[in-house]
Amino acid sequence: AGPLLAVRDLTMTFPGRRGRRRAAVRAVDGVSFDLAPGETLGLVGESGCGKSTTGRMIVRLLEPTAGSVVYAGRDISRLSQRALKPLRRELQMVFQDPHSSLNPHQTVARIVADPLLVQGVPAAEARERAAGLMELVGLVPEHLDRFPHAFSGGQAQRIGIARALATGPRLIVADEPVSALDVSVQAQIVGLLDRLRRELGLACLFIAHDLAVVKRVCDRVAVMYLGRIVEIGDKDRVYAAPAHPYTRALLSAVPLPDPAAERARERIVLAGDPPSPAAPPPGCTFHPRCPKAQDVCRREAPLLRVPVPGERREVACHFPETG
Ligand code: SF4
Ligand code: MG
Repeated sequence: AGPLLAVRDLTMTFPGRRGRRRAAVRAVDGVSFDLAPGETLGLVGESGCGKSTTGRMIVRLLEPTAGSVVYAGRDISRLSQRALKPLRRELQMVFQDPHSSLNPHQTVARIVADPLLVQGVPAAEARERAAGLMELVGLVPEHLDRFPHAFSGGQAQRIGIARALATGPRLIVADEPVSALDVSVQAQIVGLLDRLRRELGLACLFIAHDLAVVKRVCDRVAVMYLGRIVEIGDKDRVYAAPAHPYTRALLSAVPLPDPAAERARERIVLAGDPPSPAAPPPGCTFHPRCPKAQDVCRREAPLLRVPVPGERREVACHFPETG
């Protein structure tokens, strides 16, 4: 069997300006990866790097400018909303801010059952399934007739997850599902998503801005910078031996549980902010912030390649760390 999802050269350009001239802004610039059934890929990067836009193109909340999204063998990147409707059952999204993604005027029963009603499931049956979904995500069915404001952020995100699971999807895109939540409940929601994706055999694209959040959930991880994937591979390899200087910097900011190791560890602080996608630097777009940059980096954009033969990991860097 092929991958459940094959993303190829996915690109999104928005109209923008460079100085006084009109210029296309490439928010996502040629992103490619596969996702196997039941597999979770963590997609990580600073805000504005194009990770949410990538996720939205995959579930077709946005239509890509170029490239393809092949889901279960079928290119869905240009399908009309009408042709997409039956696929909505299988592709679902969990959003960043649970409260703003839930309609405040609808009861939880209505919110959770909505994807079922859209698919033509009778109301009584949809409500019964909503009750079961509440239990699945750790809420009580007795609260089905409440409105979203009656729930905490963590509970509201559980409702968002129940809604995403209502139609029995095979693929979930979770776009920073915990970054709007209190730190104290983040681990619970990450744990819930991890349990559910295992129990239900879901494939998942888990988007986050830091590597610590996705570590528990993902099988593989992809790091994005300025619209491109700069490193992608098996979680164990990437976390144990990051090869791209940007991945190394992101990982050096993740606190270590052992205080002695934490004190001994060198923190890599990057110079400046990511450049605007409206004016990407030439060559390797990371070069103005990279501690290892050489002349060639300013001239030639590195392509993704396997730095250590035989490894399931690719890196876009002229001088990857392979030690
Ligand atoms: Fe740094 Fe050069 Fe690698 Fe880019 S290609 S990440 S500038 S070493
Ligand atoms: Mg985002």
